[in-house]
Amino acid sequence: MILLKLGEIALKGLNRRSFEEVLMKNVKRRLGDAGRFAVSSKQSTIYVEPLDGDADMDLAEERCGKVFGVVSYTRAGTAEKELRAIQERAAEYLQEKLEEADSFKVECKRSDKKFPCKSPEISAEVGGYLLEKYPHLRVDVHHPDVEVRVEVREQYAFVHANARPGAGGIPVGTGGRGLVLISGGLDSPVAAWTMAKRGLALTAVHFASPPYTSELAHDKVVRLLRQVSQYAGRIKLVTVGFTHLQEEIRDCCPEDLGTVILRRYMLRAAQRVAEQEGCQCLITGESLGQVASQTVQAIACTDAVAKLPVFRPLIGSDKAEIIKTARQIDTFDTSIEPYEDCCTIFTPKHPRTKPTLEMVERGEGAIDGEALLREALENVRTTHITAY
Ligand code: ATP
Ligand code: MG
Repeated sequence: MILLKLGEIALKGLNRRSFEEVLMKNVKRRLGDAGRFAVSSKQSTIYVEPLDGDADMDLAEERCGKVFGVVSYTRAGTAEKELRAIQERAAEYLQEKLEEADSFKVECKRSDKKFPCKSPEISAEVGGYLLEKYPHLRVDVHHPDVEVRVEVREQYAFVHANARPGAGGIPVGTGGRGLVLISGGLDSPVAAWTMAKRGLALTAVHFASPPYTSELAHDKVVRLLRQVSQYAGRIKLVTVGFTHLQEEIRDCCPEDLGTVILRRYMLRAAQRVAEQEGCQCLITGESLGQVASQTVQAIACTDAVAKLPVFRPLIGSDKAEIIKTARQIDTFDTSIEPYEDCCTIFTPKHPRTKPTLEMVERGEGAIDGEALLREALENVRTTHITAY
């Protein structure tokens, strides 16, 4: 079996049951192609039990490690609820780990209070048995190499050791739906992942400006989202053509305000997509001070067109921190592929870092933005993205 321990979800009071339901549904979906499994929950633990010998347990375990809402997970051996059976199962199931270790300890949890021995007694009995079987071991209760855990539950007893940290967070879909503005860069996939971790299901919008941006750039965005969807589940990508709008901004608006004006149109367009797609917030990968359009003044000008909350989970992160997460979720190598994004074409030589709203609104007046927006949104392309 695989046991998943629930994290914060356990604190959610009355909502707890519905959180668990969503989490179990997410786990089942993720396990889809790893075989047939029964997924059930009891006492802050989710049990993933293979239904036949064809189930790919390694794959299932890997998938479980990417489900938000799980603090730790471990493979466990099952034993009949009888002391001797538990001892033997522990010795056999954990053989490899115990042979490699120098020290160990045994911790027991007995949630079936009808079981005749109490927890400390079970720990002592199992520990003693393991010492006999593996005489090279010594007991270390503070820093053991292997922490053997015995859980006496309703149906079975479980033995496992050294659970791995899970993906943390709260189950995707329990927090509503967010629309992530995704570029091909490093930041926005990390921003998307970070908000999915807090329970948001994701829809994505990408602005493309062909022929200035290529199909390869679009493909890169799809591949980035596929990585994110390993954690976030299915993602629908809406691609909006921004070529005409960008040309008009380039030709008619003050050059030094071009980036801020473009970003305002991105937000306006995103908002309309969010409305259509049932998203309650927008997500961007902005980080304070990283580029000219990410100063407080520029962000204030961008935010002035937003009616929905705009989440910028990376606002206080350094590039090095963002890169660390990008490596962890495996988007880094894709993000650094060199394709033009619509943000990197027509960039002003000297963008204004401290625009005022009045300046920007006046500059924007030179184009028929509403007509251009409508034109852009009439011609969208959708891609449905799943990880597996
Ligand atoms: P990223 O690494 O995500 O590209 P960045 O540091 O390059 O971010 P910008 O290019 O200024 O910064 O973009 C800021 C944010 O605006 C991005 O994180 C993303 O959320 C959004 N964005 C930028 N370009 C696009 C695009 N072509 N389509 C959709 N959203 C975009
Ligand atoms: Mg970018």
